[in-house]
Amino acid sequence: MTSPLYVYDDSLLKYRFHSKHPFNQMRLKMTTDLLMASGHLSASDIIKPREATDEELELVHKSDFIEAVKLAGEGKLSEEKMESYGLNTEDTPSFEGMHEKSRMLVGATLSAVEAVMDGRTDKALSLAGGLHHGFSGRASGFCIYNDSAVAIEHIRKKYGKRVLYIDTDAHHGDGVQWIFYDTNEVMTYSIHETGRYLFPGTGSLTERGTEEGFGFAVNLPVDAFTEDESFLEIFRETLEAAIRKFQPDVIFSQNGVDAHFRDPMTHLALTSRTFEEIPRFVNEMADKYTDGKWIAVGGGGYNIWQVVPRMWSQIWLSMKGIPAPRGPLPEAFMDQYGPKSPVDFPENWEDVLTDYNDIPRREEISEKNRSMLTRAMLHLEEQ
Ligand SMILES: [Zn+2]
Repeated sequence: MTSPLYVYDDSLLKYRFHSKHPFNQMRLKMTTDLLMASGHLSASDIIKPREATDEELELVHKSDFIEAVKLAGEGKLSEEKMESYGLNTEDTPSFEGMHEKSRMLVGATLSAVEAVMDGRTDKALSLAGGLHHGFSGRASGFCIYNDSAVAIEHIRKKYGKRVLYIDTDAHHGDGVQWIFYDTNEVMTYSIHETGRYLFPGTGSLTERGTEEGFGFAVNLPVDAFTEDESFLEIFRETLEAAIRKFQPDVIFSQNGVDAHFRDPMTHLALTSRTFEEIPRFVNEMADKYTDGKWIAVGGGGYNIWQVVPRMWSQIWLSMKGIPAPRGPLPEAFMDQYGPKSPVDFPENWEDVLTDYNDIPRREEISEKNRSMLTRAMLHLEEQ
């Protein structure tokens, strides 16, 4: 067994729309500091990211879009043009140097991919990536370049391997899904809050791929206010069925943590229990089905003080085979960030559920999810 690798450099924090925007990469540094303070991450585990080239971005992105991102980042693209590329919306406004800063995140994900595919390690984590809403010719939902899609296409083209993409962000992984919608060489699996009230509105059970790709897009839309038990039941059952059906060579997972009950952008009611369990189950699946080969990236997560560092740490701890810690967070981490936090700062690794509201319609939600699960399993069991 090899030791996992962790891709990080402070330069990755530069991907920032503006100071009030909810997408804040400070969470990368906070997670890294928490892991270092806990003694589970050391300098020798960390590799520096490389940059992605234009040619690599073109694996999935249109060249006119890449040109537009370059010009927008230099303030040289008209309002009208920016609009047509999704580059001046409230969600995804243009910012200085956006091409250079966005391609760094792609490069970081590629560094993790190469560490695994070149055999330096079985498992690698790059939390800077996971920008799953990026389309081939348009920016969307805080995402400009789709690092995950570029990485998966890179694995397919250069190494000829079959990739299972697992997306546990609260939002549907639409960008990655559409890019691989017509191929049977990549399976996209996304479990997310139903698109009825949440961006991007897609990800229904009936989106299953087209042509050769039919049956290779898997969507599990759960109801708003879904809790741990119901979510984990669906996740465990469908993920293993998807793996048996597809038989991937490599697992690539997107680990948005915005399905946590304290995330301000979504309506799910998950706690640390789910975020401890997700990466441990993926780790188990990788060991069982892909010779341990697993690349993980970050994704959504907008409560950077109370949620993201603790939840993201679980991915690295899973890769290392370390059980989810209990009790107080390391003192050095508390001292560093506690005083800066504008909200109550958590004291323990696990959630202490004093402010977790009792969920209304609990039975009804679980029932609805269970009937969705039954239908999803029928799809997965089809030959
Ligand atoms: Zn999200």
